[in-house]
Amino acid sequence: MPRPLLATVHHAALRHNLARVRQAAPEARVWAVVKANAYGHGIERVFEALRGADGFALLELDEAERLRALGWRGPILLLEGVFEPRDLETCSRLNLWHAVHCDEQIDWLAMHKTHQPHRVFLKLNSGMNRLGFAPGRYRAAYARLAALPQVEEISHATHFADADGARGIALQQAVFTQATQGLPGERTLCNSAALLRHAGDASSDWVRPGIALYGSSPDYPAHSASDWGLQPAMSLTSRLIGVTHVQAGERVGYGGLFTAQGPMRVGVVACGYADGYPREAPTGTPVLVEGVRTRTLGRVSMDMLAVDLTPVPQAAFGSPVTLWGQGLSIDEVAHAAGTVGYVLMSALAPRVPAVAD
Ligand code: PLP
Repeated sequence: MPRPLLATVHHAALRHNLARVRQAAPEARVWAVVKANAYGHGIERVFEALRGADGFALLELDEAERLRALGWRGPILLLEGVFEPRDLETCSRLNLWHAVHCDEQIDWLAMHKTHQPHRVFLKLNSGMNRLGFAPGRYRAAYARLAALPQVEEISHATHFADADGARGIALQQAVFTQATQGLPGERTLCNSAALLRHAGDASSDWVRPGIALYGSSPDYPAHSASDWGLQPAMSLTSRLIGVTHVQAGERVGYGGLFTAQGPMRVGVVACGYADGYPREAPTGTPVLVEGVRTRTLGRVSMDMLAVDLTPVPQAAFGSPVTLWGQGLSIDEVAHAAGTVGYVLMSALAPRVPAVAD
């Protein structure tokens, strides 16, 4: 029998979340962000459910190849993936839109012999100070690109650093508006947090949601996914592969980090950090056994973890366990482990079998 651990990708939830995103910005077209193998969900598994998007945005040429192999003929945006001149050939072959964030990429375009002119996503560094042209150099970059016969279309893009936090988007948005004022071309600004929290302030031609599509809140714990009307797109489920009884004073797991205060039943679940479950999750991290909320105990091992069966007297060998997903938000688990839903979903290990429902 295969190891009882499964990631299930929920198509109905993905469709629902896409509709929710459209509702937040009804005028905009949607780039569904599917980088990092669709945030761990698998490009092939999410494709059918998300093909109602206007385009797909991703990071790696290999992922673009996979989308084209699935039969997607619509727009694909390569968010950062031109790392050397020959990547431009792949962009041409696959008919991608691609980001331009530095002078070197413009040099490569100028030298590139192309049969099919490029559609370029010119990136402004409006304050995140990661990639993109500084505001004072943006127009010069635009002018260089606009003069190239290799370039057919230029759109304007930026990325917000704190759309989910207290600083918000106003400052970066003002920088963007000023830097792009009067330049022809479409605009794209919003990630999930900007879209859900500030859509009214940041209208643009295209939005670029990722995490919201997968049903995780971009600003947990300020808002939960259900506060935002989102549904979890992945459930990670397992079973109890052992039940053990401990007495007061006995310890559980590596390092003996949990000590029983009285007699209790401990369940062992077939999921560990080598599956992508966070090793940092402390005692008390929520988990569902037989649909009943309980907690993890002690340190997470490579292939298993321990749970408290006190609230679930009916639990026995083989009882179903939900690590996250329907009934238990990935954000809660991530928060308990001191991280965010993005990390857990995109770190799901390749060894975990996955299906779409
Ligand atoms: N746009 C860009 C340039 C990104 O790097 C990302 C992800 O980090 C997104 C959009 C989607 O962000 P989110 O998953 O927060 O919606």
